[in-house]
Amino acid sequence: MGEITGPIVMKFGGTSVADADAIARVVGIVKAARVSSGLPPVVIVSAMSGVTDRLIELTHAAERRLDAHVLNGVAELSHRHFEALERLVPPELANDVLVEIGNHLDDLRALLKATGILRAASPGAHDAIVCAGELMSSRILAVALEHNGVPSAWVDARRAVVTDGAHTGAAPLADDTRAAVAREVIPRVAEGRVCVIGGFVGATPQGVTTTLGRGGSDYSAAIVGAALDSREIQIWTDVDGMLTADPRIVESPRVVPHLSFGEASELAYFGAKVLHPSTILPAVAKDIPVRILNSRRPQASGTTITAEPPAQDRPLAAVACKRRVTMVEITSTRMLMAHGFLRRVFEVFERFRTAVDVVTTSEVSVSVTVDDDARLEQIVEALREFAEVNVENGLAILCAVGDNLRSDPRIAARVVASLEGFPVRMVSQAASRRNVTIVLRDADVADGMEQLHEEFFGVVKGA
Ligand code: ASP
Ligand code: MG
Repeated sequence: MGEITGPIVMKFGGTSVADADAIARVVGIVKAARVSSGLPPVVIVSAMSGVTDRLIELTHAAERRLDAHVLNGVAELSHRHFEALERLVPPELANDVLVEIGNHLDDLRALLKATGILRAASPGAHDAIVCAGELMSSRILAVALEHNGVPSAWVDARRAVVTDGAHTGAAPLADDTRAAVAREVIPRVAEGRVCVIGGFVGATPQGVTTTLGRGGSDYSAAIVGAALDSREIQIWTDVDGMLTADPRIVESPRVVPHLSFGEASELAYFGAKVLHPSTILPAVAKDIPVRILNSRRPQASGTTITAEPPAQDRPLAAVACKRRVTMVEITSTRMLMAHGFLRRVFEVFERFRTAVDVVTTSEVSVSVTVDDDARLEQIVEALREFAEVNVENGLAILCAVGDNLRSDPRIAARVVASLEGFPVRMVSQAASRRNVTIVLRDADVADGMEQLHEEFFGVVKGA
């Protein structure tokens, strides 16, 4: 493994480049980073917000019929990008980029036309269409930086991120990407340029365009950061970082300064939507810290995710919840938990492709929760062949997450105790022992979360 001293990677999502004003804010943030860090940062950027959705919608529309709706859609995209460009840079500087964006739009029209004729877009065609969003946004950001006195270089993501051929969800090829980044990115960084690369997009070793899956720009940032041995990867978004609770439920949650990768994974599973941890795995595997920062409040210190954060004395990292779940209680019709009972139970859930979240077992029964009850009737019918089944709707899972739950059993006890007064249906500590999950009535979850949050993160009154 190389030294972790490479340039920082800064990734900006779709809302951060939604229009000229947003892009101007990004320019300011990159410029400040350019000044304060030794090497110029490498920038990864999403498509302008809504553009990927629109490109996918236009592809489906073209599969039905290439009509005015599709052509107007391309015209709107064209207008939106040219307008941002015109507002950000003077015409003399915009000219080259105008031509390049025009070329991307020509390709897009040609691909949609072919889709209309074929009445189908292959996965490869799909990727060649949707890549336009990131290719255009990255062109605009690169020239806007240049205009603001930040030497920059646009790097074609299809030459920097090398993937397998699994269109619409390609996996990176680490060694090939490392070589590509060494060729396409590192020399420009050495010249003092800020490289700007569209996220989400890559290409096979043969040069066929691929995409990494929805939300893939975070993945691009981790892939490029790993290939560069970056010192740090920054994910710039529109929130202050990971919070100690859902702000729609708890009045004033705090930002969690440090999270372990394991904690971040648990929280993402329970609905914290800031970032999908699996997308940053290439960075975490190399021990590169990933920071979540707010492009609207760049001074906020954000959340740093690492494989092993510095020893922390906080009992919990955060609390989260999953609402509207259903509990299924399954009791063996024989008196004792017969050998193979659990296997038979889970085989039913598997057969009906329904994931279970929380599981508790006793001598003769097992309780599970599911959040997708589409096939519940069939599941219950199949279970009744060998068990008594009881279904309870309108429940929720409250989840307390923290690495220290593993080392200090008193924390789990405190979590449960803090919910005094609420009828608790299930309590479980996961095998990772990094979370405690509690199933209670959905009607109680808001108050329960408030009370749990107050216990662990509340301001000490009168202090
Ligand atoms: N533009 C892509 C998407 O919307 C990738 C990303 O923004 O991360 O899924
Ligand atoms: Mg995203």
